[in-house]
Amino acid sequence: MASRSVAAVIAGTQLTRIERLPDSEGLHNEIVLQKGHAVHFGASITQMIALGGGKAMEAGHANHVEKRHLMEAITDRTAALMYVKSHHAVQKGMQSLETMLSVAQEHKIPLIVDAAAEADLRRYTAMGADLVIYSGGKAIEGPTSGLICGRADLIEACRAQYKGIGRAMKVGKEAIIGLLTALQRYGTREETAQAQKQRMGWLIDQLTDINGLECRLARDEAGREIYRAELRIDAQRLGWSATELMKRLEGGDPAIYTRHHYANMGILQIDPRPLLPGQEQVIVKRIRELAGAK
Ligand SMILES: *Cc1c(COP(=O)(O)O)cnc(C)c1O
Repeated sequence: MASRSVAAVIAGTQLTRIERLPDSEGLHNEIVLQKGHAVHFGASITQMIALGGGKAMEAGHANHVEKRHLMEAITDRTAALMYVKSHHAVQKGMQSLETMLSVAQEHKIPLIVDAAAEADLRRYTAMGADLVIYSGGKAIEGPTSGLICGRADLIEACRAQYKGIGRAMKVGKEAIIGLLTALQRYGTREETAQAQKQRMGWLIDQLTDINGLECRLARDEAGREIYRAELRIDAQRLGWSATELMKRLEGGDPAIYTRHHYANMGILQIDPRPLLPGQEQVIVKRIRELAGAK
Protein backbone atom coordinates (compact mmCIF):
# COMPACT_ATOMS: atom_id res chain seq x y z
CA MET A 1 0.00 0.00 0.00
CA ALA A 2 2.97 2.30 0.58
CA SER A 3 4.12 1.63 -3.00
CA ARG A 4 0.68 2.27 -4.38
CA SER A 5 0.26 5.54 -2.47
CA VAL A 6 3.64 6.70 -3.73
CA ALA A 7 2.68 5.72 -7.28
CA ALA A 8 -0.57 7.63 -6.86
CA VAL A 9 1.10 10.89 -5.81
CA ILE A 10 3.65 10.58 -8.64
CA ALA A 11 1.50 9.44 -11.56
CA GLY A 12 -1.98 10.57 -10.57
CA THR A 13 -4.49 9.15 -13.03
CA GLN A 14 -2.42 9.74 -16.17
CA LEU A 15 -2.23 6.42 -17.97
CA THR A 16 1.12 7.02 -19.66
CA ARG A 17 2.74 7.82 -16.33
CA ILE A 18 1.00 4.90 -14.61
CA GLU A 19 2.32 2.53 -17.26
CA ARG A 20 5.93 3.63 -17.00
CA LEU A 21 6.32 3.40 -13.22
CA PRO A 22 8.49 2.61 -11.34
CA ASP A 23 10.47 4.61 -13.91
CA SER A 24 9.63 8.14 -12.81
CA GLU A 25 12.52 10.06 -14.32
CA GLY A 26 11.64 13.68 -14.91
CA LEU A 27 8.49 13.53 -12.76
CA HIS A 28 7.94 14.86 -9.26
CA ASN A 29 9.14 11.72 -7.53
CA GLU A 30 10.85 12.60 -4.25
CA ILE A 31 9.26 11.33 -1.05
CA VAL A 32 10.54 13.08 2.05
CA LEU A 33 10.60 11.13 5.29
CA GLN A 34 12.47 11.47 8.58
CA LYS A 35 15.60 9.35 8.77
CA GLY A 36 14.33 7.63 11.92
CA HIS A 37 11.27 6.56 9.93
CA ALA A 38 13.24 4.80 7.19
CA VAL A 39 12.73 1.49 8.97
CA HIS A 40 12.49 -2.20 8.27
CA PHE A 41 9.04 -3.47 9.29
CA GLY A 42 9.65 -6.95 7.89
CA ALA A 43 10.66 -5.28 4.64
CA SER A 44 12.23 -1.92 3.89
CA ILE A 45 10.05 1.20 3.74
CA THR A 46 12.45 2.86 1.30
CA GLN A 47 12.23 -0.15 -1.01
CA MET A 48 8.43 0.11 -0.92
CA ILE A 49 8.80 3.77 -1.90
CA ALA A 50 11.14 2.81 -4.77
CA LEU A 51 8.69 0.17 -6.03
CA GLY A 52 6.13 2.90 -6.49
CA GLY A 53 8.61 5.01 -8.44
CA GLY A 54 9.57 7.20 -5.51
CA LYS A 55 12.97 8.41 -4.43
CA ALA A 56 13.18 8.30 -0.64
CA MET A 57 14.74 11.53 0.65
CA GLU A 58 15.72 10.92 4.26
CA ALA A 59 15.71 14.13 6.26
CA GLY A 60 17.94 14.69 9.29
CA HIS A 61 19.61 11.96 11.30
CA ALA A 62 18.60 8.53 12.61
CA ASN A 63 17.97 9.93 16.10
CA HIS A 64 17.53 13.66 15.49
CA VAL A 65 15.38 15.51 13.00
CA GLU A 66 14.58 19.21 13.12
CA LYS A 67 11.79 20.95 11.29
CA ARG A 68 14.47 22.70 9.24
CA HIS A 69 15.77 19.33 8.00
CA LEU A 70 12.31 18.66 6.64
CA MET A 71 11.89 22.08 5.07
CA GLU A 72 15.32 21.87 3.46
CA ALA A 73 14.61 18.39 2.07
CA ILE A 74 11.72 19.76 0.05
CA THR A 75 12.60 20.62 -3.54
CA ASP A 76 10.67 21.32 -6.71
CA ARG A 77 10.72 17.55 -7.31
CA THR A 78 8.99 16.63 -4.03
CA ALA A 79 5.90 14.50 -4.57
CA ALA A 80 4.89 13.93 -0.95
CA LEU A 81 5.95 13.70 2.67
CA MET A 82 5.64 10.36 4.43
CA TYR A 83 5.16 9.82 8.16
CA VAL A 84 5.59 6.33 9.61
CA LYS A 85 3.48 5.75 12.70
CA SER A 86 4.96 2.56 14.05
CA HIS A 87 6.76 1.09 17.02
CA HIS A 88 9.51 0.22 14.52
CA ALA A 89 10.23 3.93 13.98
CA VAL A 90 12.56 5.89 16.23
CA GLN A 91 10.28 7.44 18.87
CA LYS A 92 12.62 10.10 20.25
CA GLY A 93 14.09 13.06 18.46
CA MET A 94 11.64 12.95 15.55
CA GLN A 95 9.24 15.69 14.46
CA SER A 96 5.58 15.12 15.26
CA LEU A 97 2.87 14.29 12.78
CA GLU A 98 1.42 17.75 13.42
CA THR A 99 4.68 19.36 12.33
CA MET A 100 4.84 17.17 9.22
CA LEU A 101 1.25 18.19 8.44
CA SER A 102 2.01 21.86 8.76
CA VAL A 103 5.11 21.55 6.55
CA ALA A 104 3.08 19.63 3.96
CA GLN A 105 0.28 22.18 4.01
CA GLU A 106 2.68 25.10 3.82
CA HIS A 107 4.26 23.64 0.69
CA LYS A 108 0.96 22.32 -0.70
CA ILE A 109 2.23 18.77 -1.01
CA PRO A 110 0.39 15.67 0.15
CA LEU A 111 1.26 13.82 3.35
CA ILE A 112 1.11 10.02 3.36
CA VAL A 113 0.83 8.35 6.78
CA ASP A 114 1.93 4.73 7.05
CA ALA A 115 -0.32 3.57 9.89
CA ALA A 116 -0.08 -0.13 8.96
CA ALA A 117 -0.48 -1.54 12.46
CA GLU A 118 -2.65 1.23 13.92
CA ALA A 119 -6.15 0.57 15.19
CA ASP A 120 -7.88 3.92 14.62
CA LEU A 121 -9.10 4.12 11.04
CA ARG A 122 -10.30 7.73 11.19
CA ARG A 123 -7.78 9.59 13.28
CA TYR A 124 -5.17 10.52 10.69
CA THR A 125 -7.53 11.53 7.91
CA ALA A 126 -9.37 13.64 10.51
CA MET A 127 -6.06 15.32 11.38
CA GLY A 128 -5.62 16.24 7.73
CA ALA A 129 -3.40 13.50 6.27
CA ASP A 130 -3.97 13.09 2.54
CA LEU A 131 -3.45 9.30 2.33
CA VAL A 132 -3.36 6.84 5.21
CA ILE A 133 -2.21 3.24 4.79
CA TYR A 134 -3.47 0.34 6.90
CA SER A 135 -2.62 -3.32 6.89
CA GLY A 136 -5.66 -5.57 6.60
CA GLY A 137 -3.92 -8.27 8.58
CA LYS A 138 -2.85 -6.40 11.71
CA ALA A 139 -5.28 -4.51 13.97
CA ILE A 140 -8.18 -5.18 11.61
CA GLU A 141 -7.49 -8.93 11.92
CA GLY A 142 -8.36 -9.64 8.30
CA PRO A 143 -6.49 -11.59 5.63
CA THR A 144 -3.19 -10.50 4.06
CA SER A 145 -4.26 -7.29 2.38
CA GLY A 146 -4.20 -3.57 2.91
CA LEU A 147 -6.33 -0.50 2.53
CA ILE A 148 -5.78 3.18 1.91
CA CYS A 149 -8.02 5.98 3.18
CA GLY A 150 -7.85 9.62 2.20
CA ARG A 151 -8.56 12.41 -0.21
CA ALA A 152 -10.96 11.38 -2.96
CA ASP A 153 -8.75 12.43 -5.88
CA LEU A 154 -5.71 10.63 -4.49
CA ILE A 155 -7.76 7.51 -3.73
CA GLU A 156 -8.89 7.63 -7.36
CA ALA A 157 -5.22 7.76 -8.33
CA CYS A 158 -4.49 4.75 -6.07
CA ARG A 159 -7.27 2.84 -7.77
CA ALA A 160 -5.89 3.81 -11.19
CA GLN A 161 -2.59 2.07 -10.39
CA TYR A 162 -4.41 -1.18 -11.04
CA LYS A 163 -3.32 -0.63 -14.64
CA GLY A 164 0.26 -0.24 -13.49
CA ILE A 165 2.31 -1.35 -10.48
CA GLY A 166 -0.87 -2.28 -8.59
CA ARG A 167 -1.40 -5.14 -10.98
CA ALA A 168 1.51 -7.10 -9.53
CA MET A 169 0.09 -6.62 -6.03
CA LYS A 170 -3.48 -7.59 -6.67
CA VAL A 171 -5.32 -9.67 -4.14
CA GLY A 172 -7.92 -12.33 -4.88
CA LYS A 173 -11.66 -12.08 -4.46
CA GLU A 174 -11.39 -14.18 -1.31
CA ALA A 175 -9.06 -11.62 0.28
CA ILE A 176 -11.37 -8.75 -0.68
CA ILE A 177 -14.39 -10.45 0.90
CA GLY A 178 -12.27 -11.40 3.89
CA LEU A 179 -11.11 -7.81 4.38
CA LEU A 180 -14.64 -6.41 4.00
CA THR A 181 -15.93 -8.92 6.53
CA ALA A 182 -13.13 -8.07 8.95
CA LEU A 183 -13.92 -4.35 8.54
CA GLN A 184 -17.62 -4.92 9.23
CA ARG A 185 -16.77 -6.89 12.35
CA TYR A 186 -14.21 -4.30 13.34
CA GLY A 187 -16.82 -1.54 13.35
CA THR A 188 -19.30 -3.44 15.48
CA ARG A 189 -16.82 -5.39 17.53
CA GLU A 190 -17.89 -6.25 21.03
CA GLU A 191 -14.31 -7.01 21.87
CA THR A 192 -13.86 -3.66 23.55
CA ALA A 193 -11.14 -2.82 26.00
CA GLN A 194 -13.64 -3.65 28.72
CA ALA A 195 -14.15 -7.17 27.43
CA GLN A 196 -10.40 -7.69 27.09
CA LYS A 197 -9.85 -6.57 30.67
CA GLN A 198 -12.53 -8.91 31.90
CA ARG A 199 -11.22 -11.96 30.04
CA MET A 200 -7.59 -11.36 30.94
CA GLY A 201 -8.60 -10.49 34.52
CA TRP A 202 -10.31 -13.86 34.78
CA LEU A 203 -7.22 -15.61 33.43
CA ILE A 204 -5.02 -13.81 35.96
CA ASP A 205 -7.34 -14.77 38.83
CA GLN A 206 -7.02 -18.42 37.90
CA LEU A 207 -3.24 -18.30 38.18
CA THR A 208 -2.74 -16.31 41.40
CA ASP A 209 -1.99 -19.35 43.57
CA ILE A 210 0.86 -20.62 41.42
CA ASN A 211 4.22 -20.35 43.12
CA GLY A 212 6.68 -18.50 40.89
CA LEU A 213 4.10 -16.73 38.73
CA GLU A 214 3.09 -13.14 39.25
CA CYS A 215 0.33 -11.97 36.95
CA ARG A 216 -1.11 -8.57 36.19
CA LEU A 217 -3.10 -6.78 33.53
CA ALA A 218 -0.78 -4.86 31.19
CA ARG A 219 -1.78 -2.17 28.76
CA ASP A 220 -0.06 -2.18 25.37
CA GLU A 221 3.31 -0.44 25.67
CA ALA A 222 2.69 1.56 22.47
CA GLY A 223 -0.40 3.07 24.12
CA ARG A 224 -3.03 1.23 22.07
CA GLU A 225 -6.23 0.07 23.76
CA ILE A 226 -5.07 -3.52 24.14
CA TYR A 227 -5.02 -5.22 27.54
CA ARG A 228 -2.97 -8.37 27.93
CA ALA A 229 -2.30 -10.73 30.81
CA GLU A 230 1.32 -10.39 31.84
CA LEU A 231 3.06 -13.33 33.48
CA ARG A 232 6.23 -12.57 35.43
CA ILE A 233 8.11 -15.78 35.90
CA ASP A 234 10.44 -16.59 38.77
CA ALA A 235 12.36 -19.47 37.22
CA GLN A 236 13.71 -20.70 40.57
CA ARG A 237 10.29 -21.02 42.13
CA LEU A 238 8.31 -22.09 39.07
CA GLY A 239 10.87 -24.56 37.82
CA TRP A 240 10.74 -23.21 34.27
CA SER A 241 12.23 -20.05 32.86
CA ALA A 242 9.96 -17.84 30.74
CA THR A 243 11.60 -19.21 27.61
CA GLU A 244 11.15 -22.82 28.75
CA LEU A 245 7.52 -22.20 29.62
CA MET A 246 6.99 -20.51 26.24
CA LYS A 247 8.48 -23.51 24.39
CA ARG A 248 6.33 -25.98 26.31
CA LEU A 249 3.19 -23.96 25.64
CA GLU A 250 4.08 -23.86 21.94
CA GLY A 251 4.89 -27.57 21.86
CA GLY A 252 1.61 -28.66 23.47
CA ASP A 253 -1.63 -29.71 21.84
CA PRO A 254 -3.20 -27.30 21.14
CA ALA A 255 -0.11 -25.14 20.64
CA ILE A 256 -0.33 -21.89 22.62
CA TYR A 257 1.63 -18.91 21.38
CA THR A 258 2.48 -16.18 23.85
CA ARG A 259 3.76 -12.67 23.25
CA HIS A 260 7.38 -13.17 24.15
CA HIS A 261 9.28 -9.95 23.35
CA TYR A 262 10.38 -9.79 27.00
CA ALA A 263 10.97 -13.49 27.64
CA ASN A 264 14.63 -12.76 28.38
CA MET A 265 13.42 -10.62 31.29
CA GLY A 266 11.17 -13.40 32.58
CA ILE A 267 7.98 -11.96 31.11
CA LEU A 268 5.37 -13.57 28.85
CA GLN A 269 2.10 -12.00 27.78
CA ILE A 270 -1.21 -13.49 26.68
CA ASP A 271 -2.90 -11.41 24.00
CA PRO A 272 -6.71 -11.61 24.08
CA ARG A 273 -7.24 -10.53 20.48
CA PRO A 274 -6.70 -13.82 18.63
CA LEU A 275 -8.55 -15.90 21.26
CA LEU A 276 -11.92 -17.41 20.42
CA PRO A 277 -14.49 -17.36 23.23
CA GLY A 278 -13.46 -19.69 26.02
CA GLN A 279 -9.92 -20.32 24.82
CA GLU A 280 -8.56 -18.54 27.89
CA GLN A 281 -9.74 -21.61 29.80
CA VAL A 282 -7.52 -23.82 27.65
CA ILE A 283 -4.55 -21.58 28.41
CA VAL A 284 -5.21 -21.61 32.17
CA LYS A 285 -5.53 -25.39 32.17
CA ARG A 286 -2.26 -25.86 30.29
CA ILE A 287 -0.28 -23.41 32.44
CA ARG A 288 -1.61 -25.06 35.59
CA GLU A 289 -0.62 -28.48 34.25
CA LEU A 290 2.88 -27.28 33.44
CA ALA A 291 3.30 -25.56 36.81
CA GLY A 292 2.01 -28.63 38.64
CA ALA A 293 4.30 -30.93 36.74
CA LYS A 294 7.19 -29.62 38.79
C1 LIG B 1 3.40 -4.21 8.63
C2 LIG B 1 3.81 -2.90 8.11
C3 LIG B 1 3.67 -2.61 6.77
C4 LIG B 1 3.19 -3.60 5.76
O1 LIG B 1 1.90 -4.09 6.00
P1 LIG B 1 1.54 -5.52 5.41
O2 LIG B 1 0.07 -5.62 5.52
O3 LIG B 1 2.28 -6.53 6.22
O4 LIG B 1 2.00 -5.53 3.99
C5 LIG B 1 4.03 -1.35 6.33
N1 LIG B 1 4.50 -0.42 7.18
C6 LIG B 1 4.66 -0.68 8.49
C7 LIG B 1 5.18 0.41 9.39
C8 LIG B 1 4.32 -1.92 9.02
O5 LIG B 1 4.47 -2.16 10.31
